[in-house]
Amino acid sequence: MPLTIPTDLLPADGRFGSGPSKVRPAQVQALVDHADVLGTSHRQPPVKDLVRRIRTGLAELLHLPDGYEVALGNGGSTAFWDIATLCLVERRAQHASFGEFGAKFATATSRAPFLEPSQVIRAEPGTVAYLEPSDDVDVWATPHNETSTGAMAPVRRPVPRAAAGAAGAGRGSAGTGEGPLLVVDATSGAGALPVDLAETDVYYFAPQKVFAADGGLWLAVLSPDAVARAARIESSGRWVPEFLSLTTALENSRADQTLNTPAVATLVLLADQVEWLLAQGGLDWAVKRSAASAEILYSWAEAREWATPFVADPAERSTVVGTIDLDPSIDAKAVVATLRENGVRDVFPYRKLGRNQLRVGMFPAVEPDDVAALTSSVDWIQNHLR
Ligand SMILES: *Cc1c(COP(=O)(O)O)cnc(C)c1O
Repeated sequence: MPLTIPTDLLPADGRFGSGPSKVRPAQVQALVDHADVLGTSHRQPPVKDLVRRIRTGLAELLHLPDGYEVALGNGGSTAFWDIATLCLVERRAQHASFGEFGAKFATATSRAPFLEPSQVIRAEPGTVAYLEPSDDVDVWATPHNETSTGAMAPVRRPVPRAAAGAAGAGRGSAGTGEGPLLVVDATSGAGALPVDLAETDVYYFAPQKVFAADGGLWLAVLSPDAVARAARIESSGRWVPEFLSLTTALENSRADQTLNTPAVATLVLLADQVEWLLAQGGLDWAVKRSAASAEILYSWAEAREWATPFVADPAERSTVVGTIDLDPSIDAKAVVATLRENGVRDVFPYRKLGRNQLRVGMFPAVEPDDVAALTSSVDWIQNHLR
């Protein structure tokens, strides 16, 4: 017999997935309102206008520095790992690896036969690995938010201690400007974690996390140095399949198109979410909203004998994906199943992490009050599960 959680404890919306994540009802309404665009050509003005709204909206939301551009294409962030391996890493990459997603990109460059073995700086799940200054790499790669563990990292170029504070530190040789590129996997952080994009060369993400749309696309904010790097590598004789060419993707993006057919409904959902975030107050608002949810979740766990934030250092605790370990006497699988039976979904931990844990997506579409209701529901289950 499944336990029935009292209705007044339950969240109004029970979607807490870490991707795909909660889609707001107004976004679904936007699909209805755009019904005349669905099923029409992505080479014609109505769909191109959606892409334009997404590119200009993201530029505003993320405060793009002068000269930076938004590119997009099909295949999600996973495709972008191969694009970056082919078009951005010239000789050797350095990776910060502290969970599944960072590790996957490190594997991609490590296996590339045309690159030297990648330098991988590892840290245990639940902590953060930090990039290091190096003269021997041309790409630094790190996740902004490691969705598999709930640890977040600040976005900044690694700077030798002595050079810290000096003008242009970490920027490579002055003049040419093109030192190592900082390539950030912001799939679950973009749009809800603070960032100064001038610190980055490539800040890439996908629509199914903060942007509450469907998956299948990748989006990347590119610095002029990143664009120059891709142009140089792609004309150097390295074989780059057209589908994985960053310069081809950028040419299409500049024309508000994608190389091949995108999911038009995803574009509608994404454009609506970007404009909703802007209307609420932009990135600052989104950062605060997710941080408010995270404060509720982590302080709840800290006040329970039987629950502990998985990420020990409070500064590294993600404000968009929270992970809470439960005492071994409480079966997290049973808690997750009971929540699911009561309409509260997707709070299971990342599958390969294998912990007795709850993982909670706290993207801006999620109401902080619903996070509070989730914690009340878990309290109730803890009292009734025997
Ligand atoms: C979800 C996620 C990915 C994978 O995104 P896809 O669009 O499914 O390829 C990569 N990196 C991080 C940090 C993620 O959260």
